[in-house]
Amino acid sequence: MKKITIAIDGYSSCGKSTMAKDLAREIGYVYVDSGAMYRTVALYALDHNLIKDGKIDEEGLRKSMKDIEISFQFNAERGRPDTYLNGVRVEDRIRTLEVSNHVSPVAALGFVREEMVRQQQRMGQEGGIIMDGRDIGTTVFPNAELKIFVTASPEIRAQRRYDELTAKGEACDMKEILRNVEERDYIDTHREISPLRQADDALVLDNSHLTIDEQKEWLLRAYQHAIDN
Ligand code: C5P
Repeated sequence: MKKITIAIDGYSSCGKSTMAKDLAREIGYVYVDSGAMYRTVALYALDHNLIKDGKIDEEGLRKSMKDIEISFQFNAERGRPDTYLNGVRVEDRIRTLEVSNHVSPVAALGFVREEMVRQQQRMGQEGGIIMDGRDIGTTVFPNAELKIFVTASPEIRAQRRYDELTAKGEACDMKEILRNVEERDYIDTHREISPLRQADDALVLDNSHLTIDEQKEWLLRAYQHAIDN
């Protein structure tokens, strides 16, 4: 059966990665979480004092890009890949609110995007890949056979994020999470390079009121339609 490329873009915390990894498992594709890559760069910058009082040392980070090696290893227990920075597992550290609070300005830097996009395109050379992010259907894989743009209301997305973080035992405040979700939406849609926008040929999925199962069904139908055409 032909192997296509599937691009899933959308706003923060709207469940893109859950749907992408579930579909990947179902159809035997590789799943790549491009947001994890930007989060890893932000984590590196925080760990190396390249972000001070919210300000990024751009020159320092530019020079450090060659020292940042990001890789993924499938974790059978979680059913999805874990993220590694220079060989060290950072999957949990990149999901903290601290990283969420700093990632979007890091991801807006041209030299960071250039390097991430280059790596992402290399990963997708063979097809048979599902990648989620903000610019996958517009910049990384503009020729993807199936493009999906996911959205949900900010309040519902913040609630999902809150549930996720509290389930992991991280103390968090709903207001702060909502602020973070809205701030990231703003930066992601207003940045100069590859802003988050719906590709002209993307299918829109508003999952505000869908159950995980309903969403799965919708996605499988979209996939089936894409490979039949
Ligand atoms: O998907 P996730 O919320 O983990 O992504 C974290 C951040 O990385 C986003 O808020 C966005 O600023 C950035 N990002 C991006 N382009 C992508 C994926 C993520 O700019 N393709």
